[in-house]
Amino acid sequence: MRCFYCQHLSLGEISTKHYYCMECCLEFKVVEDRWYGYMIDEEGDLHLEVSSDMTFSPAGTTHQTID
Ligand SMILES: [Zn+2]
Repeated sequence: MRCFYCQHLSLGEISTKHYYCMECCLEFKVVEDRWYGYMIDEEGDLHLEVSSDMTFSPAGTTHQTID
């Protein structure tokens, strides 16, 4: 199974509809047809980082800076 965010094949299943990517270090929860990617901070709290509702640049594209 590929990571929702970085498309890497290192997505591990924690439990049903609950995944963790070892490549981008995000934890994913799937709710119906949507997915949510959470960053885990040092204290173990989850912070929503990306989701299927957000637009984001696919991994591998270079970030453009606006001067
Ligand atoms: Zn990933």
